Amino acid sequence: MSKRKKILITGAAGFLGSHLCDLFVKKNYHVIAMDNLITGRIENFEHLFPEENFEFCNHDVTKYIHVSGTLDYILHFASPASPIDYLKIPIQTLKVGSLGIHNCLGLAKAKNARILIASTSEVYGDPEVHPQTEDYWGHVNPVGPRGVYDEAKRFQEAITMAYHTFHGVDTRIVRIFNTYGPRMRLNDGRVLPAFIGQALRGQDLTIFGDGSQTRSFCYVDDLMDGIYSLLHSNHTDPINIGNPSEISIADFADEIIQLTGTTQKVIYQDLPVNDPKQRRPDISRAKAILNWEPKVNRSEGLKRTYAYFKSLSDDELNETAHYNFDNYIIR
Ligand code: UDP
Repeated sequence: MSKRKKILITGAAGFLGSHLCDLFVKKNYHVIAMDNLITGRIENFEHLFPEENFEFCNHDVTKYIHVSGTLDYILHFASPASPIDYLKIPIQTLKVGSLGIHNCLGLAKAKNARILIASTSEVYGDPEVHPQTEDYWGHVNPVGPRGVYDEAKRFQEAITMAYHTFHGVDTRIVRIFNTYGPRMRLNDGRVLPAFIGQALRGQDLTIFGDGSQTRSFCYVDDLMDGIYSLLHSNHTDPINIGNPSEISIADFADEIIQLTGTTQKVIYQDLPVNDPKQRRPDISRAKAILNWEPKVNRSEGLKRTYAYFKSLSDDELNETAHYNFDNYIIR
């Protein structure tokens, strides 16, 4: 009999999900990787197929989830996560953040498993408090274009706390700030793959608005360390994980121009509706409770990420956004 701990990872074929699969396979857990491949890519974890402690389950988590035998942990990471994704598939975004989390929490309760859910800095909306601490309640437009994602994630936190309080389910909530690294989709619309993709294709870099809005970018390996520590801590309140090094989007474009050596220029386009003006995590709680802080600075992280994007084929470079609904039946 194997004494391996068993972990279910939803959204396993996505950017973050697939890095979690790598981490937990390496740490000798038995990993059940669940995804319906709407926005995730099998290529992100196919290198794990030969591992005996890895299995892929092609399933939509908004439908009843069956796992046989025992289950120790659940990481709920299924969700479209980039603005163009959740604008194009808003109903699926709302369903995975509501029906999907309900199924995951029910499973956690039935199996007596600990569950960690992926929340987001988007729960703070366009924040009026800066940097964002966990006790800030946020500034979200529920009926704006981002509402489908932001409110689904806020609901996720609420139902997770309710299962914790009323059913005693062992829960953890991580609020993830902008994260980057290998396996982001070049066409997912987010600023880093957008700029690097444009540089690689010889296109001008598109700055939305005047570029004065800020973000704070965390390298994916640092996020993985933070999630691992949180899962194994006793902390059940939400916790920010992100890199507090803040930069304006205009300065970020300059960094990408330096990194890639592109001779293209920047062009300015309309700022999307409700685009947050500033974002930076206050990570005091993560430092105090998890003894965690990011280690990879932006220049090192960008070098590693650029090396990944450069290794992609021309087909991948020119692919436009697609959504695979082959496995998705809307009832
Ligand atoms: N952005 C940009 N050009 C692009 C893509 C994004 O200027 O080609 C901006 C976007 O308006 C936002 C910031 O970059 O202010 C970060 O956007 P992203 O989609 O990466 O994530 P967000 O933090 O807004 O969810």
